[in-house]
Formats: sequence, structure tokens, C-alpha cells
Amino acid sequence: MVAALEAQALGAKVALISLGDGATPEVSALNVSDSEDEGKFFEDILRGGEFLNRRELVLRLAQGACEIRRDFEKWGIRPAQKEGEWLRRLASGSSRPRSIFMSKEKIGRALTRTLRKRLSEQGVPVFNRVRACKILKGPSGAVCGVMGVNIETGEVTFFRGRAVIVATGGVGRLFPNSTYPADVVGDGLALAFEAGAELIDMEFVQFEPTVILSPPGARGLLMPTVMLGDGASLKNRHQSRFMWERDPQRGEKEQKHILAQAIQEEVEKGRGSPHGGVYFDCRMIPPEVLSGYSEVLTRLRKAGIDAAREPVEVGPMAHSFMGGIRIAEDGSTNIPGLYAAGEAAGGVWGANRIAGCGGTEIVVFGKIVGQAAGAYARSAACEKPDEGFDVPDGSLNSLPVFGGIQRLLHECAGMKRNGKKLEMGLRALERMEREALGKLRTDFLPHFLKYLDAAHAYRVAQGVFLSALRREESRGFHYRLDYPNKNDRDFLGNILIRKDPEGGCQVRLERQDS
Ligand SMILES: Cc1cc2nc3c(=O)[nH]c(=O)nc-3n(C[C@H](O)[C@H](O)[C@H](O)COP(=O)(O)OP(=O)(O)OC[C@H]3O[C@@H](n4cnc5c(N)ncnc54)[C@H](O)[C@@H]3O)c2cc1C
Repeated sequence: MVAALEAQALGAKVALISLGDGATPEVSALNVSDSEDEGKFFEDILRGGEFLNRRELVLRLAQGACEIRRDFEKWGIRPAQKEGEWLRRLASGSSRPRSIFMSKEKIGRALTRTLRKRLSEQGVPVFNRVRACKILKGPSGAVCGVMGVNIETGEVTFFRGRAVIVATGGVGRLFPNSTYPADVVGDGLALAFEAGAELIDMEFVQFEPTVILSPPGARGLLMPTVMLGDGASLKNRHQSRFMWERDPQRGEKEQKHILAQAIQEEVEKGRGSPHGGVYFDCRMIPPEVLSGYSEVLTRLRKAGIDAAREPVEVGPMAHSFMGGIRIAEDGSTNIPGLYAAGEAAGGVWGANRIAGCGGTEIVVFGKIVGQAAGAYARSAACEKPDEGFDVPDGSLNSLPVFGGIQRLLHECAGMKRNGKKLEMGLRALERMEREALGKLRTDFLPHFLKYLDAAHAYRVAQGVFLSALRREESRGFHYRLDYPNKNDRDFLGNILIRKDPEGGCQVRLERQDS
């Protein structure tokens, strides 16, 4: 939405295709910076990403985060403040408080509502409930539009355009236990890959450490890790604050991957809670601070838990994605006219994204990419698409294929990986492709949509497995039991994949210093 508004402001004719609202309404806090803090913010992001981040992208992010105050004031978004100063929380992975928030609703919800209103006021046509299913290219190889299908009516539309910005979010729902909404399944990554774009850092899936496991009415909701900076604690079944035993300096203020791995170890060692997690205890947060988390507290109360009085059971679940479509500083890709922004783009975060940066990314890179794509679209030629769209014409039901891929990712490419399991997962995935993908039903709309789910999930999962196998070390959210240590000598670089001319995958490691 930010990118669409920016491109339109430059005079480009823009249309927005969207399935739903994605993950953005869930953002409870996002990081902002200022000129004094910019360098520190840059360092925190690099340290969080264990130095795999593309520095030029981090620089743009840290610079852009200093402008968010101006943007929000222009858009009329008013975060919580005291005496005219925005209140800032200390988020996990940050050395300073930078996370702004709203007391009564999630800041991401306010942002989504505001941007939708601005799109409507500025006359940007929005095609809701339309699923992009192919990026179209012309004879020169440049992008010339998108094919979309209305998921309610089945109507197919060709959106002709000189530039396409992929902003389809992460891959969360490809995992069976995830905090992400159903419209975030990595579609854009699969479409960009098929169009020839390079994908980067596909091995890095973030597992949110503190997702509610019980009661069932609250399962999947997130206890924001930022609460740990405000005095909440993590305890095992013996009421011991295990994070302090591991790291007496940082304790619960550790990075998310360290928290997630520690929680899993507590459970494996028999020190977990009844539903396979640990306890998140908010009772030490001062009441006036706790009241700032009213949205999560209300949702918990509705599910029968008063978090101000009793601890909540939490554990890790699949969450954000650090990988994505490889972009240059302006969001362009290796395909002329193809751009990517937000969680669909990769390279900014390296091995781990520090908390509160997902919201920062969409505002900062939304602007950068909208401006670049808008300027490109005004000068490029618009070609006619020269490719068709082939779908299978079989009789198999695709639902089990998508579910099977989710299971493979969960079982073989979860938080703790090893070469054997990754190989097994990849082989099973390839078997599914050979034996099922080309034989699926696509004759009615529901079958066609399920086919898209399966085909896209296959491509993204293949990228995750291949990249995870190639990285024979442990770093950030990629933890290999067979290679438990970091290996800068061989792996200080990004793993890139792209489609080879035979339809397979080329995998290569590009060193940071190359
Ligand atoms: C529960 C939860 C809590 C979070 N909390 C925070 C937080 O406090 N702070 C923070 O910084 N980050 C947080 N995040 C992460 C943050 O929400 C995301 O990183 C960010 O919102 C991604 O924005 P995006 O615009 O890239 O994608 P999204 O907001 O996910 O939007 C993707 C859009 O693409 C559409 N789409 C997908 N596929 C297609 C297709 N094929 N055709 C057409 N449209 C398509 C979707 O419908 C959606 O509109 C949280 C995430 C979750 C799930």
C-alpha cells in the first residue's frame, strides 16, 4: 500500500491486487530511529542478523527509520506519547528503546486502515480477493503485468503494467503451527522464482519464541517479546528463570532465536509446561506499563486467562521470514520491471530479524520501492506477454499435497535441523512433485486455487530445503545439529537460488566480501 501510494504520487498509473490484509494488522510495535541513533540501529540489525545482512539494504532501512515520524504525522497516525514525545519500548535484539506502539489498538491495524483510506482518497483502484497467479513477461524478458484470478468468482484478469511490485508478505502459513494469517503462504516468492528472479536467504525462518499454547481459545496468539523488556519473565515448570542461568548478562532480553532454542531445550529436558512450552509471567510488569498491552490482555481474558495474575503457557511457532526475493537498494530485482518490498523481499535481515523491524521495513522500503518502480514505469516500454499459463489437467485432489508439504517443512526443516532429515524432506518433496503435482485437478475454481497452494508451496519449500542443506553451519534461526557452530570461513555469505533453464534450481553461495 505504501509503495502504491508513492508510485501514484510520481504520476504512475497504479493498481493494487490483494487477497486479504496479510500480517500487517498484527504489528503491535515497530522500530523508529533518529539521526543520533541511526548508527546504533544499523549495528543492532547487523548483529541480530549475525552479519549476513546485505549492508546496503540495512543502511537504507536505518536511514529510512528516521523519517517514520514525519510519515506518521502526515498520515495522522498517533502512537502512544507523553508530553509530545513518542513512548518507545525496548524490543528483543535492540540495544535501545525504539519500538513505538498504541495503547488501545495494534499500531499495524491503524496503519492498514489509514493506508486503505488514503488509497481510496487518491483513487488507486484496489482489486480485493484477487490472487496473482503469474508474473507476465514480454519478448525482451521484461515484466509486463500480472495474471490474477478472483478467488470468489473465478474471473481471470490480465493486469498489464510496465512494473510489478511483489509485496505478498512472508511464508508463515506454509508451516502447520504458525502465527501468520491464511493469506500469507509465500505466493510472491514462487511467482518471482518462476519468472526468473533470484531468491536469497531461504533457509532463515523465524520461530516466534513466545506464542500462546493454551487455553485453546488463545492458542496461536502472540505474547510480544517486547514485554520481556518491560519486566515479564520466562519460567520453566520448576519456576526457574532459565534464561538467566544461560546468560547472566542478558537473560530474557536475548535475541529471539536464542529464546526459542532455550525454550525448546527446556521442554526436551522435561522441564516444560503441560502443553509443551514454558511459562510467560507478566506479574512483575508495573500495572501502568501492563495496561499498555490492553489488546493482548483482553484477548487472553476472553479465553479465560488473566495474565496480570497468572502465567501463560508459551512456546515457539513459525513466524516471520528473513529470506525472499533478492533486491537491490531500490527494491529492483534481476528481472527488468520486477520489484519486491516488505517481507517478500530478502537480504535485509540475514540470519535473524530483530523484533519490531517488520513494521519498519514496510514503511521504509514501501516508499523506496514505490518511488523506484514508479519512475521506471514512466519511462519503460509496455510489451505484450509472450507466454501462456500451463496448468495440469489431472484428477488428483491437491489438498493432501499442500498439507503434506506443510508437514515436511515442520518435521524436516523446523527449528532444529540435520543433513539427514533435510535430505529426506527434499527427497519426499521431489517425489510429491513427480507423482502428484502434474496430476492435480484444476477444473473448478476450488481445485484451481488448491493447485496454486500446492505448486507455490512446493517451490518455496524446495528453496528452504536446498538452502538449509547448503548451509553447513548454525547461525541465527538456522540451527544444524550436525554443524552446531558458526563457520565464518566458509559461510559468511548468502545462499542464492534461481530457476535453471531445465526448470530445476541453481544454488550458489555469494560471499559477503565478493
Ligand atoms: C501475529 C503477528 C504479530 C506480529 N507482530 C509484529 C510486531 O509487533 N512488530 C513488527 O515489526 N512485526 C510484527 N509482525 C511481522 C509483520 O506483521 C510483517 O513482517 C509485516 O506486516 C509484513 O508486511 P508485508 O506488507 O510485507 O506483508 P503482509 O502484511 O503480510 O501483506 C501481504 C499481502 O499480500 C497479499 N497476498 C499474498 N499473496 C497474494 C497473491 N498471490 N495475490 C494477491 N495478493 C496476495 C495478502 O493478502 C496481503 O494483503 C507480526 C506478524 C504476525 C503474524
